[in-house]
Amino acid sequence: MSENEKQHTCPTCNGNKVIEGICETSSEWQGKSQDGQLCTPDQTCPTCNGSGVVK
Ligand SMILES: [Zn+2]
Repeated sequence: MSENEKQHTCPTCNGNKVIEGICETSSEWQGKSQDGQLCTPDQTCPTCNGSGVVK
């Protein structure tokens, strides 16, 4: 482990490395998805590229 480079916890994902999927419910989606709920999948944080830290 090197401490030559200072790293900070990624502010976008708070060090979680992934952006959690969000579920929303809208009447517009009734019949298109179960219970009219639409969810986005978890995705790798674009800010830190999944490292959880930024320089
Ligand atoms: Zn991040």
